[in-house]
Amino acid sequence: MKNELLVQLRRIVGDDWVVSDPDIMQSYLVDVTALPVRPVPSSDVVVVKPADTREISTILKLANELKVPVVPRGGGTGCVGASVPTLGGIVLSLERLDRILEVDRDNLMVVGEGGATLENLLKAVEAADLLFPPHPGDEGAQLGGLVACNAGGTRAVKYGVVRQYVKGLEVVLPTGEIVTMGGKLLKNNTGLDLMHLMIDSEGALGIITKVTFRLYPRFGATATIIISFDDRHAAIRAVPRILQTGVIPLALEYVERDVIEISANHLGKRWPAAKGNAHLIAIITGSNEDDIYQQTGDVMKVCESLGVVDTVMAENREEQADILKIRSELYPVLKPQVSDVLDMAIPPAQIAVFLDMVDEIARKYDTRIITYGHAGDGNLHPHLPMELHERGQLEAVKHEVYNAAASLGGVITAEHGVGKIRLKEVPLCTDQKSIELMRGIKKIFDPNDILNPGTAIP
Ligand SMILES: Cc1cc2nc3c(=O)[nH]c(=O)nc-3n(C[C@H](O)[C@H](O)[C@H](O)COP(=O)(O)OP(=O)(O)OC[C@H]3O[C@@H](n4cnc5c(N)ncnc54)[C@H](O)[C@@H]3O)c2cc1C
Repeated sequence: MKNELLVQLRRIVGDDWVVSDPDIMQSYLVDVTALPVRPVPSSDVVVVKPADTREISTILKLANELKVPVVPRGGGTGCVGASVPTLGGIVLSLERLDRILEVDRDNLMVVGEGGATLENLLKAVEAADLLFPPHPGDEGAQLGGLVACNAGGTRAVKYGVVRQYVKGLEVVLPTGEIVTMGGKLLKNNTGLDLMHLMIDSEGALGIITKVTFRLYPRFGATATIIISFDDRHAAIRAVPRILQTGVIPLALEYVERDVIEISANHLGKRWPAAKGNAHLIAIITGSNEDDIYQQTGDVMKVCESLGVVDTVMAENREEQADILKIRSELYPVLKPQVSDVLDMAIPPAQIAVFLDMVDEIARKYDTRIITYGHAGDGNLHPHLPMELHERGQLEAVKHEVYNAAASLGGVITAEHGVGKIRLKEVPLCTDQKSIELMRGIKKIFDPNDILNPGTAIP
């Protein structure tokens, strides 16, 4: 890193907030992407921690003038290498912009700085007896990161993804100008919607310094049911039928017995469903207990006509927590044996067909591809085992799985994003003209390609 640039950065943010010691910097150079596919960071990097929007604007003006790459850094919980700095330049950490500024009960909105964590947002919102519905699994993610990745999570069936909650943004453009988009508004048709371009832009169009999210009232009661079937086709056939009853579960997850029992055994717990191989986990929310009983009754009635072999309803908080713990521990338990976790979106009614195709690919390569995911919104996570990486077959298998999804009208990423590791597969499910339009938009926002180059846009 050139000395002159370091001097200027120190002048902008103060000596204490420029980190160039390689040991201290290490944790800023990685995210949670599986090791075999994680991009290799550049060693010619400096980490800068500005205090506010104005300092960020000054840094970007400088970087744009000198044509130095800048990678915005949130909580580092991304899964596709998007925040890994692969070129020499600046890692711009938002960690000091960490305040929740306001919970506005009357307008049902919360306003926070780009570097505030999801954990602190949830605390502030719950203290006001309100609900921020999206819940991607790691509460260390920051508000700017949630927006830049359009994070999803298990609750998307009922409540949608982060995009549905973003109402206003403050953004610093790669050229340094500060722009305000939207506000505490539920309707806004003023010109082209630039705010929605920022959502899912993976740090390639601007740095998000302030976010306004919409809030909802909290739900009064919840129930968790495991609905078991003998085979996956019967289980997946039940998904649209459940949704057609008018009951929209908070979460509707799909797991298979031999997979979920790996997690249960690891935790020293018992998977409560004794029968069946294919399980739907439905979390039902409602305004009170009666509402819950009515909804779960409707779900069970429809499943009875579809070959259900067992239904287990968690009776109390501990039993509900146990089921969710076993489900959420699956990925950490499997991670050491996994070389890449894919993130397909499939039309929900095609999930069982896709799972059969993945099994066929696994047979061809003499391996096992564990797949589970969010059945209610068609988002599945095939786990490609480490042995494929060791045998040099990872890319070939990945390509076949992507093609299988694309042949069913699916896409290569539902919620994790393209980042730096999925760029070359984007054309499998995106036409050339759309890619050209994306490149044109990037050029308008970032004429010198300084902001997170080589990310999100092929
Ligand atoms: C255990 C675990 C469970 C997860 N579960 C889910 C899940 O269920 N659903 C889901 O969707 N994701 C999930 N994730 C992924 C991750 O939490 C989300 O993608 C999250 O939105 C990333 O936020 P972050 O602040 O950590 O961003 P980072 O990882 O720091 O960065 C991700 C991208 O956002 C950009 N960025 C970060 N902050 C800003 C900013 N202020 N302005 C502009 N760009 C910015 C970065 O440049 C990078 O391109 C999970 C991750 C983990 C570790």
